[in-house]
Amino acid sequence: MSEPITTVKCVVWDLDNTLWKGTLLEGDDVVIADHVRETIVGLDARGILQAVASKNDHGPAWERLEALGVAEYFVNAKIGWGPKSSSIQQIADELKFARHTIAFVDDQPAERAEVAFHLPEVRCYPAEAIPELLTLPECTPATVTVDSRRRRQMYQANARRQAEQESFEGPSEEFLRSLELVMEIQRATPDDLSRMEELTLRTSQMNATGVHYSDADLRALLDDPRHQVLAVTMNDRFGSHGAVGVVLLETGPAVWHLKLLATSCRVVSFGAGATVLNWLITEAAAAGAHLAADFRPTSRNRIMEVAYRFTGFADEPCACLAGLPSSDDGETRRLHITPVTRPAPGTMRLTAVRLAAA
Ligand SMILES: [Zn+2]
Repeated sequence: MSEPITTVKCVVWDLDNTLWKGTLLEGDDVVIADHVRETIVGLDARGILQAVASKNDHGPAWERLEALGVAEYFVNAKIGWGPKSSSIQQIADELKFARHTIAFVDDQPAERAEVAFHLPEVRCYPAEAIPELLTLPECTPATVTVDSRRRRQMYQANARRQAEQESFEGPSEEFLRSLELVMEIQRATPDDLSRMEELTLRTSQMNATGVHYSDADLRALLDDPRHQVLAVTMNDRFGSHGAVGVVLLETGPAVWHLKLLATSCRVVSFGAGATVLNWLITEAAAAGAHLAADFRPTSRNRIMEVAYRFTGFADEPCACLAGLPSSDDGETRRLHITPVTRPAPGTMRLTAVRLAAA
Protein backbone atom coordinates (compact mmCIF):
# COMPACT_ATOMS: atom_id res chain seq x y z
CA MET A 1 0.00 0.00 0.00
CA SER A 2 1.43 3.38 -0.92
CA GLU A 3 1.65 6.00 1.79
CA PRO A 4 -0.26 9.23 1.16
CA ILE A 5 2.08 12.06 0.21
CA THR A 6 3.13 14.18 3.18
CA THR A 7 2.39 17.81 2.54
CA VAL A 8 5.23 20.25 3.05
CA LYS A 9 4.44 22.54 6.00
CA CYS A 10 7.44 24.87 5.69
CA VAL A 11 9.72 25.85 2.79
CA VAL A 12 13.16 27.09 3.89
CA TRP A 13 14.84 29.42 1.40
CA ASP A 14 18.49 30.20 0.74
CA LEU A 15 18.91 33.87 -0.27
CA ASP A 16 21.90 34.52 -2.60
CA ASN A 17 21.17 33.29 -6.13
CA THR A 18 18.13 31.36 -4.90
CA LEU A 19 15.52 33.74 -3.45
CA TRP A 20 17.20 36.74 -5.07
CA LYS A 21 19.57 37.18 -8.01
CA GLY A 22 23.06 38.18 -6.93
CA THR A 23 25.27 38.00 -3.83
CA LEU A 24 24.46 40.59 -1.20
CA LEU A 25 27.90 40.68 0.46
CA GLU A 26 29.60 41.24 -2.89
CA GLY A 27 27.65 44.46 -3.24
CA ASP A 28 25.17 43.23 -5.85
CA ASP A 29 21.91 45.15 -6.12
CA VAL A 30 19.94 41.97 -5.59
CA VAL A 31 16.45 41.59 -7.10
CA ILE A 32 13.70 39.00 -6.85
CA ALA A 33 12.53 37.45 -10.11
CA ASP A 34 8.79 37.57 -10.77
CA HIS A 35 8.42 33.77 -10.73
CA VAL A 36 10.12 33.59 -7.32
CA ARG A 37 7.85 36.26 -5.87
CA GLU A 38 4.80 34.47 -7.29
CA THR A 39 5.98 31.21 -5.71
CA ILE A 40 6.41 32.88 -2.30
CA VAL A 41 2.93 34.41 -2.47
CA GLY A 42 1.43 31.16 -3.80
CA LEU A 43 2.90 28.96 -1.05
CA ASP A 44 1.70 31.46 1.54
CA ALA A 45 -1.85 31.38 0.16
CA ARG A 46 -1.85 27.59 0.57
CA GLY A 47 -0.97 27.84 4.26
CA ILE A 48 2.61 26.62 3.77
CA LEU A 49 4.91 28.55 6.10
CA GLN A 50 8.25 29.89 4.86
CA ALA A 51 11.60 30.54 6.51
CA VAL A 52 15.13 31.60 5.56
CA ALA A 53 18.45 29.76 6.04
CA SER A 54 21.24 31.88 4.61
CA LYS A 55 24.95 32.45 5.08
CA ASN A 56 24.99 36.22 5.34
CA ASP A 57 25.17 38.96 7.95
CA HIS A 58 21.76 38.99 9.60
CA GLY A 59 21.08 42.75 9.75
CA PRO A 60 21.74 43.69 6.12
CA ALA A 61 20.08 40.51 4.77
CA TRP A 62 16.88 41.06 6.74
CA GLU A 63 16.83 44.76 5.80
CA ARG A 64 17.05 43.76 2.15
CA LEU A 65 14.14 41.31 2.53
CA GLU A 66 12.13 44.19 4.01
CA ALA A 67 13.15 46.57 1.21
CA LEU A 68 12.10 43.95 -1.35
CA GLY A 69 8.70 43.73 0.34
CA VAL A 70 8.84 40.02 1.22
CA ALA A 71 10.10 39.97 4.84
CA GLU A 72 6.56 39.54 6.21
CA TYR A 73 6.24 36.16 4.44
CA PHE A 74 8.97 34.55 6.56
CA VAL A 75 8.05 33.32 10.03
CA ASN A 76 11.63 32.40 10.91
CA ALA A 77 15.08 33.39 9.63
CA LYS A 78 18.40 31.78 10.48
CA ILE A 79 20.91 34.11 8.84
CA GLY A 80 24.46 33.50 9.99
CA TRP A 81 27.51 31.36 9.39
CA GLY A 82 26.64 27.97 10.89
CA PRO A 83 25.82 24.85 8.87
CA LYS A 84 22.43 24.96 7.13
CA SER A 85 21.46 21.58 8.59
CA SER A 86 21.64 23.18 12.06
CA SER A 87 19.59 26.16 10.90
CA ILE A 88 16.92 23.89 9.43
CA GLN A 89 16.84 21.68 12.52
CA GLN A 90 16.34 24.80 14.67
CA ILE A 91 13.56 26.04 12.39
CA ALA A 92 11.81 22.64 12.57
CA ASP A 93 12.16 22.60 16.38
CA GLU A 94 10.84 26.12 16.80
CA LEU A 95 7.85 25.47 14.52
CA LYS A 96 7.33 22.02 16.13
CA PHE A 97 7.28 20.45 12.64
CA ALA A 98 8.65 17.00 11.80
CA ARG A 99 11.66 17.07 9.48
CA HIS A 100 9.85 15.26 6.69
CA THR A 101 7.42 18.19 6.42
CA ILE A 102 10.28 20.65 5.70
CA ALA A 103 11.52 21.58 2.20
CA PHE A 104 14.80 23.37 1.47
CA VAL A 105 15.66 25.37 -1.66
CA ASP A 106 19.29 26.26 -2.38
CA ASP A 107 21.26 26.88 -5.57
CA GLN A 108 24.45 25.35 -4.10
CA PRO A 109 24.77 21.54 -4.52
CA ALA A 110 27.18 21.41 -1.57
CA GLU A 111 24.64 23.07 0.76
CA ARG A 112 21.90 20.66 -0.35
CA ALA A 113 24.28 17.74 0.15
CA GLU A 114 25.17 18.94 3.68
CA VAL A 115 21.48 19.14 4.60
CA ALA A 116 20.67 15.81 2.93
CA PHE A 117 23.53 14.13 4.84
CA HIS A 118 22.45 15.32 8.31
CA LEU A 119 18.70 15.58 7.72
CA PRO A 120 17.81 12.93 5.12
CA GLU A 121 14.05 13.44 5.68
CA VAL A 122 14.18 17.07 4.49
CA ARG A 123 13.20 17.51 0.83
CA CYS A 124 15.94 19.46 -1.02
CA TYR A 125 15.34 21.35 -4.27
CA PRO A 126 17.76 23.27 -6.51
CA ALA A 127 16.97 26.87 -7.48
CA GLU A 128 15.98 25.67 -10.97
CA ALA A 129 13.04 23.81 -9.38
CA ILE A 130 11.43 27.02 -8.08
CA PRO A 131 9.12 27.50 -11.11
CA GLU A 132 7.71 24.00 -10.52
CA LEU A 133 7.28 24.18 -6.72
CA LEU A 134 3.61 25.15 -6.88
CA THR A 135 2.83 22.23 -9.19
CA LEU A 136 4.37 19.57 -6.92
CA PRO A 137 1.91 17.28 -5.10
CA GLU A 138 3.83 17.71 -1.84
CA CYS A 139 3.24 21.47 -2.07
CA THR A 140 -0.47 21.06 -2.84
CA PRO A 141 -2.55 20.54 0.33
CA ALA A 142 -5.77 18.57 -0.15
CA THR A 143 -7.90 21.39 1.23
CA VAL A 144 -7.17 25.08 1.67
CA THR A 145 -9.52 26.68 4.19
CA VAL A 146 -9.91 30.21 5.47
CA ASP A 147 -7.72 29.16 8.42
CA SER A 148 -4.93 27.73 6.29
CA ARG A 149 -4.89 30.86 4.11
CA ARG A 150 -4.10 32.91 7.20
CA ARG A 151 -1.89 30.33 8.91
CA ARG A 152 1.17 32.62 8.70
CA GLN A 153 -0.68 35.56 10.24
CA MET A 154 -1.98 33.25 13.00
CA TYR A 155 1.53 31.97 13.61
CA GLN A 156 2.96 35.50 13.74
CA ALA A 157 0.18 36.68 16.09
CA ASN A 158 0.95 33.72 18.34
CA ALA A 159 4.66 34.61 18.42
CA ARG A 160 3.78 38.17 19.52
CA ARG A 161 1.34 36.78 22.11
CA GLN A 162 4.01 34.47 23.55
CA ALA A 163 6.61 37.25 23.66
CA GLU A 164 4.15 39.36 25.60
CA GLN A 165 3.29 36.47 27.94
CA GLU A 166 6.98 35.92 28.69
CA SER A 167 7.47 39.59 29.56
CA PHE A 168 4.25 39.82 31.56
CA GLU A 169 4.60 39.95 35.32
CA GLY A 170 1.50 39.30 37.37
CA PRO A 171 -1.16 36.62 37.89
CA SER A 172 -1.92 34.60 34.76
CA GLU A 173 -5.61 35.42 35.00
CA GLU A 174 -4.68 39.06 34.64
CA PHE A 175 -2.62 38.22 31.57
CA LEU A 176 -5.54 36.33 30.05
CA ARG A 177 -7.80 39.34 30.59
CA SER A 178 -5.17 41.57 28.94
CA LEU A 179 -5.47 39.46 25.77
CA GLU A 180 -9.12 40.57 25.33
CA LEU A 181 -10.13 37.05 24.35
CA VAL A 182 -13.42 36.56 22.54
CA MET A 183 -14.98 33.12 22.03
CA GLU A 184 -17.79 32.53 19.60
CA ILE A 185 -19.92 29.37 19.60
CA GLN A 186 -22.27 29.01 16.63
CA ARG A 187 -24.06 26.28 14.70
CA ALA A 188 -21.49 24.88 12.29
CA THR A 189 -21.75 25.53 8.56
CA PRO A 190 -20.33 23.16 5.91
CA ASP A 191 -17.34 25.55 5.60
CA ASP A 192 -16.75 25.37 9.35
CA LEU A 193 -16.63 21.57 9.12
CA SER A 194 -13.79 21.71 6.60
CA ARG A 195 -11.87 23.83 9.09
CA MET A 196 -12.71 21.34 11.86
CA GLU A 197 -11.55 18.45 9.71
CA GLU A 198 -8.31 20.31 9.17
CA LEU A 199 -8.01 20.81 12.93
CA THR A 200 -8.48 17.06 13.37
CA LEU A 201 -6.00 16.16 10.64
CA ARG A 202 -3.36 18.43 12.07
CA THR A 203 -3.90 16.46 15.32
CA SER A 204 -3.37 19.55 17.43
CA GLN A 205 -6.55 18.85 19.29
CA MET A 206 -7.70 17.40 22.56
CA ASN A 207 -10.52 14.98 21.90
CA ALA A 208 -12.56 14.38 25.01
CA THR A 209 -14.34 11.29 23.76
CA GLY A 210 -11.45 9.68 21.92
CA VAL A 211 -14.14 8.87 19.33
CA HIS A 212 -13.37 10.24 15.90
CA TYR A 213 -16.22 11.77 13.93
CA SER A 214 -15.31 12.31 10.30
CA ASP A 215 -16.16 15.37 8.30
CA ALA A 216 -18.86 13.28 6.57
CA ASP A 217 -20.34 12.05 9.88
CA LEU A 218 -20.68 15.61 11.16
CA ARG A 219 -21.93 16.95 7.80
CA ALA A 220 -24.73 14.34 7.82
CA LEU A 221 -25.85 15.60 11.24
CA LEU A 222 -25.99 19.31 10.29
CA ASP A 223 -29.67 19.11 9.33
CA ASP A 224 -30.67 16.57 11.98
CA PRO A 225 -33.09 18.31 14.36
CA ARG A 226 -31.97 16.21 17.34
CA HIS A 227 -28.29 17.01 16.90
CA GLN A 228 -26.40 20.26 17.33
CA VAL A 229 -23.05 20.55 15.58
CA LEU A 230 -21.32 23.63 16.96
CA ALA A 231 -18.18 25.44 15.84
CA VAL A 232 -15.99 27.27 18.35
CA THR A 233 -13.79 30.14 17.12
CA MET A 234 -11.58 32.49 19.11
CA ASN A 235 -9.79 35.76 18.60
CA ASP A 236 -7.95 38.29 20.74
CA ARG A 237 -6.25 41.63 20.30
CA PHE A 238 -3.38 39.95 18.41
CA GLY A 239 -5.68 38.42 15.82
CA SER A 240 -7.70 35.31 15.10
CA HIS A 241 -7.03 31.85 16.53
CA GLY A 242 -9.32 30.46 13.82
CA ALA A 243 -11.52 27.42 14.40
CA VAL A 244 -10.48 26.01 17.77
CA GLY A 245 -13.17 23.53 18.69
CA VAL A 246 -16.13 21.40 17.74
CA VAL A 247 -19.08 20.15 19.79
CA LEU A 248 -21.57 17.41 18.89
CA LEU A 249 -24.61 17.34 21.12
CA GLU A 250 -27.81 15.31 20.96
CA THR A 251 -30.61 17.19 22.69
CA GLY A 252 -33.48 15.24 24.26
CA PRO A 253 -36.14 16.62 26.63
CA ALA A 254 -34.68 14.99 29.77
CA VAL A 255 -30.98 14.84 28.97
CA TRP A 256 -28.52 16.42 26.57
CA HIS A 257 -25.87 13.96 25.40
CA LEU A 258 -22.45 15.46 24.68
CA LYS A 259 -20.97 13.05 22.13
CA LEU A 260 -17.93 15.00 20.99
CA LEU A 261 -15.93 17.84 22.41
CA ALA A 262 -12.58 18.60 20.81
CA THR A 263 -10.53 21.74 21.23
CA SER A 264 -7.22 22.83 19.78
CA CYS A 265 -4.11 22.46 21.94
CA ARG A 266 -3.36 26.06 21.03
CA VAL A 267 -6.15 27.36 23.28
CA VAL A 268 -6.01 24.88 26.18
CA SER A 269 -4.03 27.32 28.30
CA PHE A 270 -6.80 29.89 27.84
CA GLY A 271 -9.33 27.56 29.52
CA ALA A 272 -11.29 27.05 26.30
CA GLY A 273 -12.56 23.57 27.23
CA ALA A 274 -13.93 24.66 30.60
CA THR A 275 -15.51 27.75 29.04
CA VAL A 276 -17.40 25.61 26.50
CA LEU A 277 -18.50 23.16 29.23
CA ASN A 278 -19.72 25.92 31.57
CA TRP A 279 -21.69 27.46 28.71
CA LEU A 280 -23.29 24.07 27.88
CA ILE A 281 -24.18 23.57 31.55
CA THR A 282 -25.92 26.96 31.63
CA GLU A 283 -27.82 26.23 28.40
CA ALA A 284 -28.94 22.81 29.66
CA ALA A 285 -30.05 24.39 32.95
CA ALA A 286 -32.19 26.87 30.99
CA ALA A 287 -33.74 23.97 29.05
CA GLY A 288 -34.36 21.98 32.25
CA ALA A 289 -32.31 19.06 30.93
CA HIS A 290 -29.51 17.07 32.55
CA LEU A 291 -26.15 16.75 30.79
CA ALA A 292 -24.29 13.52 30.08
CA ALA A 293 -20.84 13.43 28.48
CA ASP A 294 -18.95 10.49 27.02
CA PHE A 295 -15.35 10.29 28.08
CA ARG A 296 -12.82 7.76 26.88
CA PRO A 297 -9.36 8.31 28.35
CA THR A 298 -6.55 8.40 25.81
CA SER A 299 -2.87 9.21 26.22
CA ARG A 300 -3.51 12.75 25.04
CA ASN A 301 -6.78 13.92 26.60
CA ARG A 302 -6.04 13.88 30.32
CA ILE A 303 -6.41 17.66 30.39
CA MET A 304 -9.99 17.30 29.12
CA GLU A 305 -10.81 15.01 32.02
CA VAL A 306 -9.51 17.77 34.30
CA ALA A 307 -11.86 20.23 32.56
CA TYR A 308 -14.85 17.88 33.10
CA ARG A 309 -14.05 17.35 36.78
CA PHE A 310 -13.32 21.04 37.27
CA THR A 311 -16.73 22.00 35.87
CA GLY A 312 -18.52 19.42 38.04
CA PHE A 313 -19.11 16.36 35.84
CA ALA A 314 -19.01 13.12 37.88
CA ASP A 315 -19.49 9.35 37.61
CA GLU A 316 -22.91 9.38 39.24
CA PRO A 317 -26.08 7.38 38.68
CA CYS A 318 -29.17 9.17 37.39
CA ALA A 319 -32.47 7.98 35.95
CA CYS A 320 -31.91 10.12 32.84
CA LEU A 321 -28.98 7.94 31.73
CA ALA A 322 -31.31 4.99 31.09
CA GLY A 323 -32.68 6.87 28.08
CA LEU A 324 -29.30 7.02 26.32
CA PRO A 325 -27.86 4.36 24.01
CA SER A 326 -25.33 2.24 25.87
CA SER A 327 -21.64 2.76 25.22
CA ASP A 328 -20.63 -0.84 25.70
CA ASP A 329 -17.07 -0.66 24.39
CA GLY A 330 -15.91 -1.07 28.01
CA GLU A 331 -13.70 2.02 27.80
CA THR A 332 -16.08 4.93 27.46
CA ARG A 333 -17.32 6.36 30.74
CA ARG A 334 -20.46 8.41 30.93
CA LEU A 335 -20.09 11.48 33.10
CA HIS A 336 -23.15 13.28 34.39
CA ILE A 337 -24.13 16.63 35.86
CA THR A 338 -27.40 18.16 37.06
CA PRO A 339 -26.94 21.61 35.54
CA VAL A 340 -27.21 24.88 37.45
CA THR A 341 -26.63 28.24 35.75
CA ARG A 342 -22.95 29.24 35.75
CA PRO A 343 -21.48 32.72 35.94
CA ALA A 344 -20.14 34.23 32.71
CA PRO A 345 -16.46 33.48 32.07
CA GLY A 346 -14.07 35.86 33.85
CA THR A 347 -11.24 35.88 31.33
CA MET A 348 -13.01 36.16 27.99
CA ARG A 349 -16.10 37.53 26.30
CA LEU A 350 -18.44 34.81 25.02
CA THR A 351 -20.91 35.12 22.17
CA ALA A 352 -22.99 32.02 21.64
CA VAL A 353 -26.07 30.65 19.94
CA ARG A 354 -29.02 30.00 22.29
CA LEU A 355 -29.79 26.29 22.39
CA ALA A 356 -32.34 26.31 25.18
CA ALA A 357 -34.85 28.36 23.20
CA ALA A 358 -34.53 26.10 20.14
ZN1 LIG B 1 -29.61 12.95 34.97
